[in-house]
Amino acid sequence: MLKTIRDLEVTGKRVLVRVDFNVPLDGEGNVADDTRIRAALPTIQYLLEKQARVILVSHLGRPKGKVDERYRLDPVARRLSELLGRPVVKVDDCIGDEPRRAVQEMQPGDVILLENVRFHPGEEKNEEKFARQLAELADVYVNDAFGTAHRAHASTEGVAHFLPAAAGFLMEKEINMLGQALSNPGRPFVAILGGAKVSDKIGVIENLLGKVNTLLIGGGMANTFLAARGLALGKSLVETDKVALAGDLINRAQKAGVKLLLPVDLVVARAAQPDAEPKVVPVDAVPEDWMALDIGPETVKNYVAEVRDAGTVIWNGPMGVFEMAPFAAGTFELARALAESKATTIVGGGDTAAAVEKAGVAGRMSHVSTGGGASLEFLEGKTLPGVAVLMDKK
Ligand code: ADP
Ligand code: MG
Repeated sequence: MLKTIRDLEVTGKRVLVRVDFNVPLDGEGNVADDTRIRAALPTIQYLLEKQARVILVSHLGRPKGKVDERYRLDPVARRLSELLGRPVVKVDDCIGDEPRRAVQEMQPGDVILLENVRFHPGEEKNEEKFARQLAELADVYVNDAFGTAHRAHASTEGVAHFLPAAAGFLMEKEINMLGQALSNPGRPFVAILGGAKVSDKIGVIENLLGKVNTLLIGGGMANTFLAARGLALGKSLVETDKVALAGDLINRAQKAGVKLLLPVDLVVARAAQPDAEPKVVPVDAVPEDWMALDIGPETVKNYVAEVRDAGTVIWNGPMGVFEMAPFAAGTFELARALAESKATTIVGGGDTAAAVEKAGVAGRMSHVSTGGGASLEFLEGKTLPGVAVLMDKK
């Protein structure tokens, strides 16, 4: 069982909370998108109501183990303070004298934000000494950073060995939603897989083959499956070294009784450019110097029909190059079909989440995962190190 924040005694305690405040900054160094900050608010507010002393720790960007002025967390502290409507003390390091003194001065209900934890090389190396230094600042540890739970770093894994540890509300929701979908899905259980490459998603396909009723394949990866069926795809992105594997997956799906659908038509163009002239062709008629950049309308119709009658839908990977208007229809129409479906709908993957957002239907999904890489590893059936340390051994 996952231990959660409700299982911890936090009143008056110093609580170290690992959050995912890895947010985009704009040209002036302000927070450009505060989604991740807002996602951590329920946990922070719960701790404040319980009169805990809240010590937040996060990474930002890839400073590679040393101080990098571009990745200081001061703008995040300012935005968090606005959202909470109370002061947030920003500390310029995450271990050592300065945070120790700041923590000593804290009253119940105070919030401090430590400096970027990746300014120290011990973080990504998960050094025990560094993890202990983080742990020394607090009485208990809460991890609410699902987005980094697939990394065994000091602030996501190491520190949990030295303090009572539990999941925050965001972490709990992610694990419950993704876990429920995989272990106890509504039937029919439909997975939609797309994105650029088969090679990125092999683990996901293999894990889902044993669980789903229906697999809908789109995006660039569909080309490799179509190639395995013997079709010529012009200049489309095809991973020639994965064609045999795709053929094998088609056979395994058939043996497992999984209905695997491939595109029957495609949107093609001469180049992946926003001003390219698109046209729709059947899958066996891709012109030699054209490339497939979206699924076609017949395919959309087929996939929408599967989604409409589904009990649970998991979606990872866009159906086309949705970043460009001529190739966005497949992805957006499917997004709308999920929004309208009665199924439990779960969206994972950074670009898929962005696509659903762009389609304006993110709020109508049962769950849009905040963790790109972490949600993928979860769907692969892997144990996430940051989650494993939050499980009750009993
Ligand atoms: P996620 O981040 O949701 O896991 P991926 O990173 O696997 O998704 O894939 C997203 C990318 O796949 C998008 O940038 C999109 O442009 C690209 N893509 C989708 N379809 C195609 C295609 N037919 N050809 C080339 N690229 C594609
Ligand atoms: Mg991606």
